[in-house]
Amino acid sequence: PAKESPLNLSSLNPRQREAVKHTGSPLLVLAGAGSGKTSVITRKIAYLIQTLEYPASKIYAVTFTNKAAREMKERVDGLLEKGEGRGLSVGTFHSFGLNFIRREARALNMKSGFSILDGEDVLNVITDLMMATNEGDKDLAKRVQHRMGEWKNDLVSPAQALSFAETEEDVQFANIYEKVQRYMRACNSVDFDDLIALPTWLLENDEVIRTRWQNKIRHLLVDEYQDTNGAQYRLVKQLVGPREALTVVGDDDQSIYAWRGARPENLFELSNDYPSLKVVKLEQNYRSTNGILKSANTLIANNPHEHEKTLWSDKGEGDDIRILACANEEAEAERVAGSILDHRLRTKQKYRDYAVLYRSNHQARPLEMALQRFKIPYKMTGGTSFFARAEVRDAMSYLRLLLNPDDDNALLRVVNTPRRGIGIATLEGLGRYAMDREKPMLACIDELGIQSKLKDAQLERLRNFSEMIWEKRQALDEGNGLRAIMELFVEIGYEDHLRQESSSEAQGERRVQNFQFLIDAIRKDIARDPEEDTLVELEGDEDDSEAADETAVEAAIRKLVLRDLLERQEEEDDSDRVQLATLHAAKGLEFPFVTVIGCEENILPHRGSIEADTVEEERRLAYVGVTRAMRELTLTYCKARRMGGEKIETSPSRFLDELPEEHRHWEGRDPVSPEQNRAMGESVFASLRASLSGDS
Ligand code: ATP
Ligand code: MG
Repeated sequence: PAKESPLNLSSLNPRQREAVKHTGSPLLVLAGAGSGKTSVITRKIAYLIQTLEYPASKIYAVTFTNKAAREMKERVDGLLEKGEGRGLSVGTFHSFGLNFIRREARALNMKSGFSILDGEDVLNVITDLMMATNEGDKDLAKRVQHRMGEWKNDLVSPAQALSFAETEEDVQFANIYEKVQRYMRACNSVDFDDLIALPTWLLENDEVIRTRWQNKIRHLLVDEYQDTNGAQYRLVKQLVGPREALTVVGDDDQSIYAWRGARPENLFELSNDYPSLKVVKLEQNYRSTNGILKSANTLIANNPHEHEKTLWSDKGEGDDIRILACANEEAEAERVAGSILDHRLRTKQKYRDYAVLYRSNHQARPLEMALQRFKIPYKMTGGTSFFARAEVRDAMSYLRLLLNPDDDNALLRVVNTPRRGIGIATLEGLGRYAMDREKPMLACIDELGIQSKLKDAQLERLRNFSEMIWEKRQALDEGNGLRAIMELFVEIGYEDHLRQESSSEAQGERRVQNFQFLIDAIRKDIARDPEEDTLVELEGDEDDSEAADETAVEAAIRKLVLRDLLERQEEEDDSDRVQLATLHAAKGLEFPFVTVIGCEENILPHRGSIEADTVEEERRLAYVGVTRAMRELTLTYCKARRMGGEKIETSPSRFLDELPEEHRHWEGRDPVSPEQNRAMGESVFASLRASLSGDS
């Protein structure tokens, strides 16, 4: 495609242009979906670099999901000449935080090579700690975890939590919070929330470091600002400092992370913090037809609004919104798959132009079955991910342990995988010993001896394991990292283990391939010439970097670990596939043909939200779904579905009723039976066969 000329801002509308050129004071772009908010950010980055000649390494742009960050990076890349973007930082809040902690590890009392625990790891830590003192079970642990998340999102320390505690339960939870934090620091680990909380805390409390970072950042740009939580708000404030070089864009109607502590009111608080704040509103939507746009506007008008927004588009009326009634979820899936096949044949589109969106991950299963049956290639965001597979998680745990020998969670995961005859009792003995001394388990293995009651054979097995890890770790330090890693997995017979533990030969091979894919990713990352990347994510100036003494292999592993945590299923694959995604994961993206499935009461809006009276957030979620569509939008619902093995009658979502009558087109309010559906599928196949034989 022809490259846009960034210096030529004439393709922007006057308000967008104003937003791009504004630099004197903080700027808020507050506007509805598809109005070009993200475009303002990408254009502004190019403008700052090319016209105002800011060094790219002093520009930081943050957004929420990896997918959005990647899109933003691609869009900026398209605007810059090769090499111009070197050092530019475009990433997620969490990748920013990770990079910050890496650089400031010493000030935070962390050792380099710290580990990041995911939600499951943290839950295990909490459960273990609670079990050790007989304080409760896994269910209670989950509630503690949730509460801890709330505290961390508001930057409430364990001590503060304790002093604010009003109920007995709060006291109990705050005490556990304190223990968990202490434990995590002891094994040199942080969790997801710490990636934001620790940098914010350090910036607020250390003037030297604060000034250094404020000087590092000439301009900070934040996309999807309505989803920032309390901690992120404060982080942004610290980073911006007195220079106030800040551009944020957002849409309060697309705030869909309240359940994770997001505060859409952060949008409006900006004017208190920055009296010189300039606000720009955008009104032209460049994405969707008017039918889609009016439907979105009418839907969201059912939520109370303080700030009215009007959106218009010059893309014509377009087709009506199709609403399909289906007998059950299988019929729905077949219908969707069949329609995509049929539509694609008739209109000669690419598979990648279609997206199917849903409220919850479990809805994807019947859909995947149907797509496979119709042989439609698809790609899924947010499902059983590559990194969630056991073979990958285990291999990652070995890598984590090599990087950070204090990572007890990683150790527990692999110390007996493949089996080495190390039993639970032995691990309990080791764990208690380590816990009593507040030391990491791996380091304790060497000390274990007379004091422990472990049998010699057990001790020997543990020692063999620890020796192997220390030996490979040393090789890693000496720069033979890749070799050391490959030797490790050969020594432990990892591939054979995967084959033996699989239920079929095919499954075994798939798992071996997944494992090899992981090793290849490290190899490729090391081989890549950094000069080739015009955009290096969060790789600003190297000089003051703690991370400089990190070897290439270590850096490669660390990147993988972060991807593991953040991306899960967000694979970098732009091949021609239908996109399946949750509504949350689809935010910020756009597709020509969109289908939202499961538009039913108790699904969208979700049952929990109906009970908790938070339907407004569900409506915003539906609004996000509707506004992803550029040309055609289809909404489907089932008349009945199986829930917990039982068939349950369902009713259409209230949101369907809220769409404007004149743009709604109902199909099959009498639901089509699975048999009729199958017959339809057959006829699609027949036409497919006919068209194929006609072509060749
Ligand atoms: P969302 O709220 O969904 O994140 P957004 O406000 O960030 O949407 P963008 O994704 O930036 O909107 O833009 C939507 C579409 O409109 C994109 O395809 C973009 O290329 C296009 N667009 C933006 N501004 C213009 C313009 N001035 N002229 C033509 N197309 C534009
Ligand atoms: Mg956007």
